[in-house]
Amino acid sequence: MDIKYFDNAATTRVKEEVLKEMLPYFCEQYGNPSSIYGIGREAKRAIEQARKRVSELVNCKPNEIYFTACGTESDNTALKGIAYENKGKGNHIITTKIEHPAILNTCETLSKQGFRITYLNVDKDGIIDLEQLKNSITDKTILISVMFANNEIGTIQPIQEIAKIAKMYNIVFHTDAVQACGNVPIDVQKMGIDMLSLSGHKLYGPKGIGALYVKTGIKFQKFLDGGHQERDRRAGTENVAGIVGLGKACELARINMSKHINHLTSLRDYYISQIEKRIPYAKLNGAREKRLPGNSDFSFRFVEGEAILLNLDLKGICASSGSACSTGSTLPSHVLVAIGLSKELAYSALRTTFGEENTKEDVDYLIENLVEIVDRLRKMSPEYSEFIEMKK
Ligand SMILES: *Cc1c(COP(=O)(O)O)cnc(C)c1O
Repeated sequence: MDIKYFDNAATTRVKEEVLKEMLPYFCEQYGNPSSIYGIGREAKRAIEQARKRVSELVNCKPNEIYFTACGTESDNTALKGIAYENKGKGNHIITTKIEHPAILNTCETLSKQGFRITYLNVDKDGIIDLEQLKNSITDKTILISVMFANNEIGTIQPIQEIAKIAKMYNIVFHTDAVQACGNVPIDVQKMGIDMLSLSGHKLYGPKGIGALYVKTGIKFQKFLDGGHQERDRRAGTENVAGIVGLGKACELARINMSKHINHLTSLRDYYISQIEKRIPYAKLNGAREKRLPGNSDFSFRFVEGEAILLNLDLKGICASSGSACSTGSTLPSHVLVAIGLSKELAYSALRTTFGEENTKEDVDYLIENLVEIVDRLRKMSPEYSEFIEMKK
């Protein structure tokens, strides 16, 4: 069966052009970038070209980019790196309730080490309150970390305003932009971002490669001890092919940005309008306007997201209930709880995240199947029958 893939927030398919640029670095140009002979120098050159390409996507200097093993490592490096570096100055970190586990669990670890963490609330759309942010700042605050865009509900935060507040109090501002990079324009200089995390596999690059932008002048403790790679900021022989792939993915993302945004936005808006027209008691989760181009997340009352997923899978459709990272856990999504959903509505959520290769026909196939599945599952639900009886 042909796969219809609507889970681009979990990961994306590597672009053919990206793979093609990576391949020579496995069996031909396999030198260690630290070696001085030809194939080592070629690997080094390829890394520096990739660094330039990544820097151009977010508008920073190439030497402000550090390659890491994944988005998770970038987040860990930013939070722990700043926390340990500034221990003498303060022990307070501000973040939000709807961050990715790469941030939340890092904060959890830091809190056990004596750091105090403030988790900002979000409103029903998933947006933080700038007043609460300001009121949370103390003279011990050393870091503010707020995600650019949420991986479950797609909500985009007022990044520029947050950066302004951080700057006013001379606090480092980090943003987890793993979902946003490649999907919305990012300019770290214009937006006032001090540190930013991104990841290859969320923007049509390979898995197992990430990058961290750190503004010149900001000091952070390194995460790994070892060799002097990445200007002594990240030890370990470079993942040359992965870095090349990330670089190419960033270049393509920059060149195709407006086309990409238009395509995804039109698929998303078509899907949302069709669902709202054809499925009763469907609730859109997250902000309607300030939302990632490809993200849609609905709660289908009276049915479980997991049950919808299994039925979609039988039709060759890939989607998600909550985020991939929380699958296997029996708790409702912390993001959906934070925007005020009941447990029941949180369990009934279905996330569909569109990507470059999706067509309107694909989305129609998804909609037709979803209409049928939700209707069928609801007819099996005693709560639904009761609800319909009561309405009569
Ligand atoms: C996927 C994701 C991460 C983790 O990136 P990996 O490269 O998979 O480690 C971090 N933050 C957000 C918002 C993500 O969506």
